[in-house]
Amino acid sequence: MATISIPAGTSALLLDIEGTTTPITFVKDILFPYIREHLEDYLSSHWEEDECKQDVHLLKKQIEEDMKQNRACRVHAVDQTVHTDEEKAIREVVDNVLWQMAADRKSTALKQLQGHMWRSAYASGRIKGEIYQDVIPSIRRWRGQGLKVYIYSSGSVEAQKLLFGYSVEGDVLDLFDGHFDTSIGAKVDGKSYERIAERIGCQPEEITFLTDVTREAKAAEEAGVNVLVVVRPGNMELTDEERAHYNLITSFNQLQLTG
Ligand SMILES: [Mg+2]
Repeated sequence: MATISIPAGTSALLLDIEGTTTPITFVKDILFPYIREHLEDYLSSHWEEDECKQDVHLLKKQIEEDMKQNRACRVHAVDQTVHTDEEKAIREVVDNVLWQMAADRKSTALKQLQGHMWRSAYASGRIKGEIYQDVIPSIRRWRGQGLKVYIYSSGSVEAQKLLFGYSVEGDVLDLFDGHFDTSIGAKVDGKSYERIAERIGCQPEEITFLTDVTREAKAAEEAGVNVLVVVRPGNMELTDEERAHYNLITSFNQLQLTG
């Protein structure tokens, strides 16, 4: 395994999650199936709680909005106040959520309920954040050498903190100096990396970004950030041109601070 030097002048490493620190299948194979399998149970056991009521209320508003816009969806009248027919009301929420997920909707209502379900699953140990085994020892080593380490993922900061707070390696949140998500901008937009540098308080040239997605790598490069492309099982295949252009690593162990 060839050693690759962390670019000279780097003071901060910026890490992507999916396909970089974590198998790209984690969300698709673990997180989403968890929702589909436990949705009905979750709603039944939390139905009377304020947080769940708010989640259902938001879903109901989303459904009304969908009806107004004539989106092609199955229409449900979710009425949480009808306690006599709770099972039916839960069934309707389940149907709507499953429909939204199948349609890959990104509604706030859907995300909010999913977020609450995942939080409860992580906290109870039913889900553990997956991290490749080379990741944590490497981060500890880099930190020992004075580098700062940040996360930049399209998953929300809250979701990032759950993954690393309840991971297969335990709570490793103290290894990170900060978290960024798309509220700072899209990962394929160079401006986002300029903003991150500003927030960290350094020049883009002092940051080295690790990601599996070359569109993100390209955007980071445009902002002056150093880039390494991470090759992990199941990641998108790179073109010959991309292989030639980027420094590639298959394990964080390869990355050494030299000089
Ligand atoms: Mg990724």
